[in-house]
Amino acid sequence: MAVNGTGPYDPQNVFARILRGELPCKKVYEDEYALAFHDIAPKAPVHVLVIPKGPFVSFADFSRNGTEAEITGFTRAVGQVARDLNLETPGYRLLSNVGVEGGQEVPHFHVHLFGGRALGAMLP
Ligand code: IMP
Repeated sequence: MAVNGTGPYDPQNVFARILRGELPCKKVYEDEYALAFHDIAPKAPVHVLVIPKGPFVSFADFSRNGTEAEITGFTRAVGQVARDLNLETPGYRLLSNVGVEGGQEVPHFHVHLFGGRALGAMLP
């Protein structure tokens, strides 16, 4: 992955392998556009990752190159997962790291969903 979170896409990254069923995950949601599963190293009582099904390196790539349907479908899926996990009350946090310097380790676009406790003020 380039430092700025753009291509080329590595089809052997761990989330690509999860999408192909080559690696297991603790799935919480799936539809045509998105898959959501529990993070393997949770940082909050609820820590779920939502990923698009297409081969996007990061949000930078997805927001440029995703189709309207992919962007809408993915965004709706993230909200659906939050509702399904009862995170809307009292609240939750969405986060996406972009590029190596942005803290991104897995080069397939993903949104972290944190909840299940008071999260406090946002820190960089
Ligand atoms: P990033 O730093 O935003 O790329 O976050 C990658 C996240 O993926 C981290 O929170 C990891 O704990 C998580 N992770 C890595 N491998 C797996 C896996 O196989 N299953 C679920 N989560 C994973």
